[in-house]
Amino acid sequence: MNSSLKVRFAPSPTGYFHVGGARTALYNWLVARKAGGKFVLRIEDTDETRNAEEWVEGIISALSWLGIVWDEGPYRQTQRSEFYQKAVDRLIDEGKAYWCDCTREQIDQRAKERGGPPGYDGFCRDKNRSRTDKTALRFKIPRPGVTVVHDKIRGDVVFDHDNLDDFIIVKSNGSPLFVLANVVDDIEMKITYVIRAEEHLPTTPKAILLFHALGAKDLPLFAHLPVLVNAKRQKLSKRRDRVAVEDYREMGYLAPAMVNYLALLGWSPGGDREFLTLQEMIELFDIEDVNHSPAFFDEQKMQHFNGVYIRQLDLDSFVSHCLPFLEKHDWWAGSGKQLQLFRQIAPMVQERVSLLTEAAEMVAFFFRPVEIPSDLVDSVLRKGESAAQILKDLSGIYAHLKRFTHGELNEVTRAYCDTIGMPLRKVQAPIRVALTGSKIGPPLFESIELLGKEVTLFRLAAARELIGTTQP
Ligand code: GLU
Repeated sequence: MNSSLKVRFAPSPTGYFHVGGARTALYNWLVARKAGGKFVLRIEDTDETRNAEEWVEGIISALSWLGIVWDEGPYRQTQRSEFYQKAVDRLIDEGKAYWCDCTREQIDQRAKERGGPPGYDGFCRDKNRSRTDKTALRFKIPRPGVTVVHDKIRGDVVFDHDNLDDFIIVKSNGSPLFVLANVVDDIEMKITYVIRAEEHLPTTPKAILLFHALGAKDLPLFAHLPVLVNAKRQKLSKRRDRVAVEDYREMGYLAPAMVNYLALLGWSPGGDREFLTLQEMIELFDIEDVNHSPAFFDEQKMQHFNGVYIRQLDLDSFVSHCLPFLEKHDWWAGSGKQLQLFRQIAPMVQERVSLLTEAAEMVAFFFRPVEIPSDLVDSVLRKGESAAQILKDLSGIYAHLKRFTHGELNEVTRAYCDTIGMPLRKVQAPIRVALTGSKIGPPLFESIELLGKEVTLFRLAAARELIGTTQP
């Protein structure tokens, strides 16, 4: 236990909350829970051109849904400008920052003339300019020098100051830049461990120099998490891939399944073990065991996890998880009768789905008139003579059944198969399509029993009419 440990999750609210962000939040949270330390939520919203309130709400609602709860915050950087101002004054007073009025064009032009790499050349560093509405504040990188980032995942990464520009910390309009606000907050909030995405590693030497310049005594530890890639090994991107946590929630993922899967993106508890409770994750997780190579975000595998978690639910909780997804359909009125029927079907559906949206789609045929897609009319109902014959024969047989139970239905259908010398599977196909509008679904005879004799006979007759074989 290290109860003075303090981590933070510091998202910039510039878009839908990304699965990579969720993984970063989760790892921070696991580290805090394991150590008995604190997890801070800090919204880094200083870039007013890219931030929007709806993204902040999206982050908060997604984290709450996943169960990643914060001990402090949410802090908002836009409400903390006095801290950044104090830091800026100090850096100016101590000669560690300077005002610069070079335009982008001038900087590029000089780089071209130098023939060296693009970037700022320190032109205003010793010019002692005063502040105007055209000057930005730059941090004076100590030269010469080297900064080493002791990264807990990648080991030591060495940065020569020759490759670091005097970077801007305050824009000409007075707003602080990301790295300044980020470091000032980490100092002020007494963050002891910075766990964040790999894309921030190149900025970390600048952050470390700022920590020192601002007189921080103990620097936090650093760990940069591996990037997430798709099946083509490309970095996950919102243009190419489904990345928004919100989308997965709407598709019918269970939060614990998603948390379990996200935990494995770059980390493994060892052996072949993959399914872990939250408590086990907290006990076993160690940031130093995280792999530095890119982690494959495999949506199919995550969906498989979801199926496993769905099957572990008890019936009541499966039903209540399904309700919001049923409510999205206009055929669902939520009446007591519908609920009772859904409860009867639910155990069969629970066995067969890996998303809660699929569960709602799979039971639709019980609650609304059947719709048979035209490709199934052609490929199943109009297939040769046999489908029409099967529909006709079984309509007759089912009409005479006294006890309309799945046991009886099973028995008479099998007997019919024996008579005509066809396997059950082939006989079931047109019946299923006629009754449910799909080739897959819950077990057929149980479904027929629940549909009831009247609806069953009606749908079989309608299917026969559809293919034009209603003559006796
Ligand atoms: N605000 C940064 C981001 O959203 C995170 C910075 C950090 O964790 O230090 O990428």
